[in-house]
Order: sequence, then C-alpha cells, then structure tokens
Amino acid sequence: MAVLTPEQTRRLTHLMDARLAREMDEIRSITARVRDARDGVAPADWIDAALANSTLASDDAVLGQDAQDVRDIIAAHTRLSAGTYGICVDCGEAIVYARLLAYPTAKRCVHCQRLHEQGGAREGNLRSS
Ligand SMILES: [Zn+2]
Repeated sequence: MAVLTPEQTRRLTHLMDARLAREMDEIRSITARVRDARDGVAPADWIDAALANSTLASDDAVLGQDAQDVRDIIAAHTRLSAGTYGICVDCGEAIVYARLLAYPTAKRCVHCQRLHEQGGAREGNLRSS
C-alpha cells in the first residue's frame, strides 16, 4: 500500500532528521548545563537555590518532551522501514500528506487521533467497521 511518493517520503524523512538533530542538540545543551550547575559553587542564598531548582525542574520537563519526540521519530523511522509509515495505526487508512508535513511522526489520521484524544472509548466499534 504505497500512500506516499518517493519524493514525499524523502521530504518527510528530511523533516524528521532535522527535528531529531534539534532535539539531540537541546538534550545535549541541557544536560551540559545541568552538569555545570551541579559542579558549580553552591547557590549563595535560598533565593538563588529556589531559582536554580525551578530551572532544573523546567529542564526536566523539556528533557521529557525531547525524549518523547526522539522516541516518536525513531518509531516513525521504524514504520518507514516496515512500509507502514503514513498509514493510520487504528483504521489502516492513509494519513493525508498535509497532516504528515505538519506532523511527520503522526501515527493516526485526523479522525482517529481525535477519537484517541477523547479516550479511545469506542475502539471496539472502530475495529468492527
Ligand atoms: Zn484512522
């Protein structure tokens, strides 16, 4: 089931590779900054300590999101190799190219993504249709 042209696949692969490089850079720079903060002189007073802690907490959130993005990109590459990239994991229909351009790691078509975000309560109905 070829849903994308080779040119479209190349373009999406390029988008994901660029995204992956950005995520890896961000992960590297945050981990370097956190390491520097830990190796550095202890914060002079409690205000500095509070500020430093809030920075680390937001770094954690960013790192968590980066790690999830990296996992999504790796999963998308796996689907590319398996020939299932661009096919909705829920209904098996092709995901429209415009959606993939906006969101190259999309696993679901717009319709199924909406159902999924609503809690996936009607999964049984989807499978039987
Ligand atoms: Zn679908």
